[in-house]
Amino acid sequence: MALERKGVLWVDGEMVPFADATTHVLSHALHYGSGVFEGIRAYRQGDGSAAVFRLRDHVERLHASARAYKIPLPHPVEVLSEAVRRVLRENGLGDAYIRPLAYLGLSSLGVGSRDCPTSTAVAAFPWGPYLGPEALEKGVRATVSSWTRLHHSMFPTSAKGCGQYLNSMLATREAKEKGFEEAILLDRDGLVSEGAGENLFVVRGGALRTPGREHSILPGITRDSVLRIARDLGFPAAEGAVTRDELYGADEAFFTGTAAEVTPVREIDGYIVGAGRRGPITGRIQETFFRAVRGAEPRYREWLAGV
Ligand code: PMP
Repeated sequence: MALERKGVLWVDGEMVPFADATTHVLSHALHYGSGVFEGIRAYRQGDGSAAVFRLRDHVERLHASARAYKIPLPHPVEVLSEAVRRVLRENGLGDAYIRPLAYLGLSSLGVGSRDCPTSTAVAAFPWGPYLGPEALEKGVRATVSSWTRLHHSMFPTSAKGCGQYLNSMLATREAKEKGFEEAILLDRDGLVSEGAGENLFVVRGGALRTPGREHSILPGITRDSVLRIARDLGFPAAEGAVTRDELYGADEAFFTGTAAEVTPVREIDGYIVGAGRRGPITGRIQETFFRAVRGAEPRYREWLAGV
């Protein structure tokens, strides 16, 4: 979805018009991917106000990602959280996607140089369902990628480092060229890791399983929310290894992520998942998730931060 090229962004404490939020071509991050980012969603609540889903967890993960790459991040969690709220307010947004970014800027091009300043920005814009409007109901067709998920011995996979997303880009492009909507990446041992930009759950015999950190996943905040929701609904839900044949043989499968929310997978490489549409357990979890993000589930109110 193309950006609308309007509104204001927060850049290092100042509100900046869209056209002025630019950077130099010799910025370190453009050459080496030396940045970290977040993806956050805000949702319109029943009373018309807006709230950010798990704001503190996302901003804390941005800090953890910066720490993992030793990128100095001068703005404390409270300041960045307020920046997110301010960007939403000043752009008049309710249902929105928020993109905080911290990256190394202009000074020198040594790959390990320590003198490049960090620039931090927060942008927000309206954004519908990531995998298309029908995906939430009907599910998507996915393929196991020929690319392996980058391994945790090569990158801190629990961080959202900009350069790491070349792996996701390759996998997504390949999947789309083959006519699928999303890629599923295996880890170095051939076990299921995650989607190109989502975590993955499989359901078998009424129980949920999702690959753990040892499978080089990004431990997603939506994944964590779904583990809690599933258990609260009375479904056993565990982290553990998922083999490729378990994936193809699942009763149900779904992706979770800030962008993808809870998206059913209806087919993988020509194997029809369950009945080839959103499964009943996926449906229950998805429904509860969407009620939670809109403030309709009192037990999950703590996940929402007012704007
Ligand atoms: N895995 C990858 C590779 C991702 O980019 C994302 C999106 N941040 C996720 C999983 C899901 O994480 P979250 O639920 O925190 O958005």
